[in-house]
Amino acid sequence: MTMEIHHDRHHAGYVKNLNAAVKETAYASMELEDILMRIGSGDNEKGIRNNAGGHWNHSLFWQVMSPSGGGTPSGAVANAINTAFGSHDAFKEQFSTAAKTVFGSGWAWLCVGADKKLFITATPNQDNPLMTQIAKKTGTPILGLDVWEHAYYLKYQNKRPDYVGNFFNVINWKEVAARYEKAMG
Ligand code: MN
Repeated sequence: MTMEIHHDRHHAGYVKNLNAAVKETAYASMELEDILMRIGSGDNEKGIRNNAGGHWNHSLFWQVMSPSGGGTPSGAVANAINTAFGSHDAFKEQFSTAAKTVFGSGWAWLCVGADKKLFITATPNQDNPLMTQIAKKTGTPILGLDVWEHAYYLKYQNKRPDYVGNFFNVINWKEVAARYEKAMG
């Protein structure tokens, strides 16, 4: 029920509002990722920023989870995680801390940076690391966790740490690995 409402109402809302917000602007004919790259922090661009981010972020979110997910990755992405964070457990701890310490609404991310190294970051609201004009740390997200209350409140109420802990049981590492390889070129 949590995921159904999240997908069918929240995500659908971002898509609907994005289409309305770009209407008759230069963004209307752009690919979603081009919008994210160009969008600025001005008040007049807030509607496009929030809803373009919302659409992209949720599109990733559904793909990086699976009912048969969890466990640990293998191959190149596993090696990259060990190189960047020391171990899989250390990665889990750093990612969890990023997710748990977002104040209010936002996202935690595992990204590939311009230097092709992995890093963990968090963004407020529906921002993401593809927003080069806005994000403090930019890169290509390969895993993202929605920590808005709408993502977990039905099931977990105020217990965000439990939601974050259980996320690791559904991570679709195959998809994360595919996104890692794409980002590495
Ligand atoms: Mn959400």
